[in-house]
Amino acid sequence: MGELRSVRTRCPVCGHIFRAPRVGSYVTVGRETDLCPKFPGRQSDGTRLIRDAITMCPACSFSAAEDFSDLVLTVDERYDIEERLREDGLLKVFRASPPPWLAFHAAEVCGQERGLRFRELGDLCLRASWVCRKEREHPFESTFQLRALRYFIRALREEGLHGRELSLTTYLVGELNRRLGNHREALNWYVNAERTLGGELGRDTGLAWLDRLISEQSKLAREQAA
Ligand SMILES: [Zn+2]
Repeated sequence: MGELRSVRTRCPVCGHIFRAPRVGSYVTVGRETDLCPKFPGRQSDGTRLIRDAITMCPACSFSAAEDFSDLVLTVDERYDIEERLREDGLLKVFRASPPPWLAFHAAEVCGQERGLRFRELGDLCLRASWVCRKEREHPFESTFQLRALRYFIRALREEGLHGRELSLTTYLVGELNRRLGNHREALNWYVNAERTLGGELGRDTGLAWLDRLISEQSKLAREQAA
């Protein structure tokens, strides 16, 4: 289950040197309907594998999904990121004993400063919500689902998504709405998601599974809306 090694890492913001876990290849057994991977074995192992996709500096909390050695930050960016991390409310409360979702929140904050796309910021929040669910932190799960939803909607409006990314993002907006109890809104987005697949399925895009998932989740949302 997920060979784990650690890698000597230097924080691009504060220069702190530490050993960060690096997840190797691992086995999944399907996905939940919000695309959260399912892992065999203990729940806590699954949480760890999702969590370790983010590197977090233990000194200043700088976090990112990318390899730290690939990141080049300007002096201004470093300053702004340090400032944001110092002032962030959730980090202030939870830094002393960080829950597994905190790294995603920190990566979101740093990602905003680094100008990441809304689609990527949404993805960080979505993954935070997966970790919260596995850890049974339900209020935080909903908070992150709502944030992911808002980023994904902005990505759809402003980032010109296409192909697979457009279909998956549109579906996720439906699914996150359904999970947050907005069943009618969810149904509209499932219809939109279906439309993005129109015609493309014939060309073997590998998204037949998504077409099936949309049908199943639409049925569920209709039952829940009734
Ligand atoms: Zn640091």
